[in-house]
Amino acid sequence: MLNKPITQIKGVGEKFAADLAEMGIHTVEDALFYFPYRYDLFEIKPLGELIHEDKVTIEGRVIHEPSLTFYGKKRSRLAFSVEVEGVAVKAVMFNRAFAKKQLNIDDTVTLTGKWDAHRLQITVANFKKGSANEQASIQPIYSVKGDVTSYKIKKVIQNALQTYRRDVHEILPERYLTSYKLPNRSVAVASMHFPKSRIDLKHARRRFTYEEFLLFQLKMQLLRKLNREATTGNAQHYDSASVNDFIECFPFSLTNAQQKALRQILADMQSPYRMSRLLQGDVGSGKTAVAEVCLYASITAGKQGALMVPTEILAEQHFQSLQETFGDKASIVLLTGSIKGKKRRELLASVEKHEVDIVVGTHALIQDDVFFADLGFVIVDEQHRFGVEQRRVLREKGLNPDVLFMTATPIPRTLAITAFGDMDVSVIDEMPSGRKEIETYWARENTFERILQFIGKRVAQGEQAYVVCPLIEESDKLDIQNAVDLYHQLEEFYQGSIQVGLMHGRLTTDEKDSVMKQFADGDVHVLVSTTVVEVGVNVPNATIMVIYDAERFGLSQLHQLRGRVGRGERQSYCILIADPKGETGKERMRIMTETNNGFELSEQDLKLRGPGDFFGKKQSGLPEFKVADMIHDYRALETARKDAEEIIENRLLESDPAFHQLHRYLENHAIFQEKLD
Ligand code: ADP
Ligand code: MG
Repeated sequence: MLNKPITQIKGVGEKFAADLAEMGIHTVEDALFYFPYRYDLFEIKPLGELIHEDKVTIEGRVIHEPSLTFYGKKRSRLAFSVEVEGVAVKAVMFNRAFAKKQLNIDDTVTLTGKWDAHRLQITVANFKKGSANEQASIQPIYSVKGDVTSYKIKKVIQNALQTYRRDVHEILPERYLTSYKLPNRSVAVASMHFPKSRIDLKHARRRFTYEEFLLFQLKMQLLRKLNREATTGNAQHYDSASVNDFIECFPFSLTNAQQKALRQILADMQSPYRMSRLLQGDVGSGKTAVAEVCLYASITAGKQGALMVPTEILAEQHFQSLQETFGDKASIVLLTGSIKGKKRRELLASVEKHEVDIVVGTHALIQDDVFFADLGFVIVDEQHRFGVEQRRVLREKGLNPDVLFMTATPIPRTLAITAFGDMDVSVIDEMPSGRKEIETYWARENTFERILQFIGKRVAQGEQAYVVCPLIEESDKLDIQNAVDLYHQLEEFYQGSIQVGLMHGRLTTDEKDSVMKQFADGDVHVLVSTTVVEVGVNVPNATIMVIYDAERFGLSQLHQLRGRVGRGERQSYCILIADPKGETGKERMRIMTETNNGFELSEQDLKLRGPGDFFGKKQSGLPEFKVADMIHDYRALETARKDAEEIIENRLLESDPAFHQLHRYLENHAIFQEKLD
């Protein structure tokens, strides 16, 4: 059995065991699965294949007595020649005077170091007497703590493998191993530590990547299923007839995609299951309309609803549009930081007494001093960070509302599922018909004046424009300088004929709000801005989006920015100013001019740049894997997700003997025991 204490392994005493425990290694199994974090690779290649300045390994025969020179106090240089494939190669070793005695003429040595192809010289970082036994040698390097060295842990693992490798049982069904060509578990464990070759290592990694993803997906999907089957919950018995009437009142009919999303959400609301669902859809795809229907449904079930948005401006906008949509069907209040004193107290009291049906506000509205009588439904707009913590706050108030997250950032489904864990995902992938496509152009920088003239003409016809500035990473200051310079340039160009506004991250919230308000009211015609253009802000009169140095943005970001226009009746334009140097940059501009579809774009972005762009590096909620890497192995993730779905759907864990080991593994590894939420 593998769950024996680590002291069972030869050479591990109490003291050593305590050190290992610090590293999270308590059992034999922990040791076997403590994988190296990297490998040193020594691979002997023919001289002709060595690349200049690469780290290389060569094997040769010493043909000259090493000569040692000292310089400075402790510094030394040892130079000698070796014969490789009949060619004399010079070797230089720094600060290793002791090696002189070990290197004798005719000795065979294996040298690793930086290769200088012009001088046929190697600067040795590592040397070993004798020949490298194999073509390649791959050395595991472990991350260590305290008194434990990489060498010591390597020994422990070697011993563990010797005694216990046979006890590493396969947990994946044979058919998966066959169809994905994966090595079995016990072979792969050994290869992770002591790979015989690069290929060997690659397959071992493939195996554990898949295994980790599958276990993760099974866990997520099981959690979701348990959550669904929970009997105590918050079923909202809404009134279907009224909800249908409400939908009839829209001046349009819902798109198929909207209807589908709506059905999914309503089904969740009706069930005792505590909904946690992500609603994705391009800007303007009609997410808000769907959300309004759900809010209304919740009200007909006798509950209250809340709509949370990231900024006060957005809160006000949503508040107004909700009031228009609901008319006298609901009592709606706006709760923001600027509502204070007596007014605030009265508002809060009415929320607590259930005189209010819907509260619109910023993030703080579920915290602080706000108490709901019976909160049934929460919508979180453009807010990825709302998570476990906020749900805890709600629970502590005795609330278990269904929560709907809305985002206009199209994230490929695979990534969404992984990044948002046990959330369900609904997608609105269809635009209401009759929308005018935003025309997107790619322009070179030397056409800037013409673009300004174009803006001037449109403004004269009562339209408005955004000019967004380059984003220079890690340099807030430069960003602002760019925006300020551009602002002055525009002021000069228009000479007061057009009102230009400036928006950047250093402004206070009040200043930002005031600029945005001026722009929304049409008092400012052209808004120069760093990327702080508020997400989701709605100024239907704005028809032009100019993005300066567009090659600095990823496709998804460009698309987000473009979504600020195209909201009104009039034809909108997006102008990308870019002189991309590389092919990828050009490709990105081309894709932008060719498609308006956010999901298509996000798939393209994934292909071009990998998934890293969709999330910040430290995006919380991304699970940590030992071997697998969400960013690089997302295809394996997708495969694992499908397999997990099939396993759960067909109850294979319980019914198919081929899945018996996997089932047991899940049970023994606390994968079921995790608390809901
Ligand atoms: P989102 O929240 O996804 O950005 P909204 O729900 O605000 O989109 O919808 C954008 C605009 O399109 C609104 O003016 C809305 O009234 C309108 N709209 C929503 N759904 C439809 C539809 N099915 N047909 C026509 N117009 C629609
Ligand atoms: Mg529910």
